[in-house]
Amino acid sequence: MLQSLKNRLVRLMVGRYGIDQLYYAGLFLALGIMLVNISVQSSILMGISYAVLVVNIVRSFSRNIVKRRKENDAFLKFWNPIRKETKFFFRRVREFRTARYKTCPHCKKRLKLPVKRGKNTVNCPNCHESFEARTFL
Ligand SMILES: [Zn+2]
Repeated sequence: MLQSLKNRLVRLMVGRYGIDQLYYAGLFLALGIMLVNISVQSSILMGISYAVLVVNIVRSFSRNIVKRRKENDAFLKFWNPIRKETKFFFRRVREFRTARYKTCPHCKKRLKLPVKRGKNTVNCPNCHESFEARTFL
């Protein structure tokens, strides 16, 4: 019974796009709007959250795989830098006791430096130029 239901679902999804990162983003967005809407109680917000869910479902059942993939690529192009910077921010917080991150002004490479308070001369291992780095805290 459960097996045949699974088979039917698999057959239904053949040739269709399915789930991608944009799908999850839409899901979280819709859930976020719904959470906010618990206190706001706006029918417009409710409509938006349902619209996002409907778009998600339509996209996952779409047979135009090339177009859906392009949409997801556009989303990732916008999202990946945000994700990367957020991850970097938490890494800085986590390593605050032991390390500081500075960007080399010559080659723009991010360097992980041990904590040395005051003014220090840093020799970049990437481009071998040196620069002044200040650490106050
Ligand atoms: Zn450098």
